[in-house]
Amino acid sequence: MRVGFLMVISGPSGVGKGTVCEQLLKENLDIKYSISATSRKKRPNEENGKNYFFCSEDEFKKMAQEGKMLEFAKVHGNYYGTPKKFVLDSISQGDVVILEIDVQGAMQIKENYPDAVFVFLLPPNFDELKKRIVKRNTEDIETINLRMKNAENEVKFINEYDYAVVNEEVKDTVEKIKAIIQAERLKVVYRK
Ligand code: 5GP
Repeated sequence: MRVGFLMVISGPSGVGKGTVCEQLLKENLDIKYSISATSRKKRPNEENGKNYFFCSEDEFKKMAQEGKMLEFAKVHGNYYGTPKKFVLDSISQGDVVILEIDVQGAMQIKENYPDAVFVFLLPPNFDELKKRIVKRNTEDIETINLRMKNAENEVKFINEYDYAVVNEEVKDTVEKIKAIIQAERLKVVYRK
């Protein structure tokens, strides 16, 4: 019998986490995506309840205080967190749940859910990363510089992860993550 588990995907801003996860979900119906809550402003191309649950900082803090978050962190000046109920319900139903979260959140998950699988997405190089963030055209220059600075710190956490995947081509990256999921599903530990 297949048993559910958490798969954490982290990586610097602009590495392509969103695109990779979107493609992965299109291809595999047994995978669920945890929609995070955030106090960040919605970008024009984003939808509430699809990309994120957008809320005010006060609303976010209230949810966190009430213990409704599996993990949460302040990232690039805004709060982000994983709503607990959806994730725990999905895992108990045997699904694989993807958490696309930063390294601080990942470390909280590692502490509380050591059976989770940790994947770090890397850019081919930092110049390419900056190009991708600039091309996305969703951030001002100050935010881009902050995200680039944070990227260097995030990469330092790579040793805490189980797998590292360089995201050159989305298609190849998705295949690699699918292979990781397949292998992890077969692990004896998940059959307890
Ligand atoms: P963005 O603002 O570009 O959508 O996301 C910024 C960063 O926040 C990314 O590194 C993303 O992985 C992270 N992030 C998104 N949702 C969560 C979450 O629920 N928890 C944590 N800790 N980080 C998150």
